[in-house]
Amino acid sequence: MATDVDRLRIVKIAVYQAVEVTLAQGGADVAPNAPIIADREALVRVWLEPGVAWQPREVEAELAIGNGTASRTATVVTPVNAASVDAELASTFTFTLRASEVSDATTLSVTLSDGALHTPFDRWPERGEHSLNTSSSQGPFTVTLVPVTVNGYTPVLDTPTVSRFERYLSHVYPASSVVMSVHAPISLDFALAGDGTGWDDALDALYAVRDADAPAPNVYYYGVLTPGASLTDYCASDCVVGLSTVAARSDEGYRGAIGTGFFESNADTFSQETMAHELGHALGREHAPCGHPDSVDPRYPYPYGQIGVRGYDGRNLLDPDDYKDEMTYCVPVWISDYTWTGIFGRINYVNGLVGSQRVRSASGARLRVRTLTLGPSGQAHWGSERALARAPDGEPTNVELLDRAGAVLGVVTVPFAKFDHLTGGFLSVPSEALARAGVTSVRVGATTLAVP
Ligand SMILES: [Zn+2]
Repeated sequence: MATDVDRLRIVKIAVYQAVEVTLAQGGADVAPNAPIIADREALVRVWLEPGVAWQPREVEAELAIGNGTASRTATVVTPVNAASVDAELASTFTFTLRASEVSDATTLSVTLSDGALHTPFDRWPERGEHSLNTSSSQGPFTVTLVPVTVNGYTPVLDTPTVSRFERYLSHVYPASSVVMSVHAPISLDFALAGDGTGWDDALDALYAVRDADAPAPNVYYYGVLTPGASLTDYCASDCVVGLSTVAARSDEGYRGAIGTGFFESNADTFSQETMAHELGHALGREHAPCGHPDSVDPRYPYPYGQIGVRGYDGRNLLDPDDYKDEMTYCVPVWISDYTWTGIFGRINYVNGLVGSQRVRSASGARLRVRTLTLGPSGQAHWGSERALARAPDGEPTNVELLDRAGAVLGVVTVPFAKFDHLTGGFLSVPSEALARAGVTSVRVGATTLAVP
């Protein structure tokens, strides 16, 4: 080894998929700040710090990747003049791990040595190998895109458009991959407006399509809408562009969302970002605090909805002071390590349901409910009839069952699923309760509504 003053030390090691996950810092391993997703490409980054008497020279960095029979070594030789700078990728050594090299069987070690003399400067870990602790998404994140015809417009969901959505989501979502397919179009016989009118019923219609299809429990539905000739034709300013409920883990009936699908140019990522945001709600995420959204997650750890740690988009580092979390209303957006961790937990859970017996009762019996929509301005109306695998979670709300004379015949407690971007939400009223003898109307709070 060279002496301390003229040697080069490894001061930090991190892995990037979309977010920086620190493995070691200041010579010690640290607890990872977010999951490293198995079977997904990753960038390994090595920070350097020369001693005070360092003479600029070529340095060889060697990454040993232990991965059973597919083990290999990657080597980079480059001149090192100064300490690494956080914001500059080129000031660090970087290596790409192939998707197949990101698994719980993977071990890593990094050795720095003099590029000409091959004398060693430093090694991480000091001895042995570092076991890469990965997390499996148990398969891809699966989305069915539903083209929704409304206001006389049907969105285009051709192959290039689908791959735009797919590519974006596969960058910012914590899964091994994202797989999308396109459903037959559905048509709405009511209008959508920028102030939110009609959006509640459009979301109800999307959920009803998913219920009717009864797909595997891990499949999310996303209704794509173009309610105008262009985004500006639909919306002059400050409009609703997407809607979802903030779905609880077991709310199979709410595994979906809707949003606009306008593309003003090739560089336009607004619709993809809207999808990542809305499906984030469907995956249980509340808002991060930027742009004055409602329902802010009180546990969001960073001020101003910042992403907290440096992001990586596959080419560039993304500054944590500039980028805001995808669950904010601010731009530019990326994903924080916090949201990455939260969405991963949900994807891992729903993918784990596939093939599991507990998601369907043995008889295959489904709970029949009628959606009661509490609209944005307080008006209540009936929505779709649905057959659910199980009762949704949500805030318990009392619905009174009334007879013709207005006498209360009974009370049912039903779950309330609130909207992310509008006042109101959905109540799921059991059809059995509405069919009880003598029941002609229901009352929720101050609102009375005739049984359909
Ligand atoms: Zn939102």
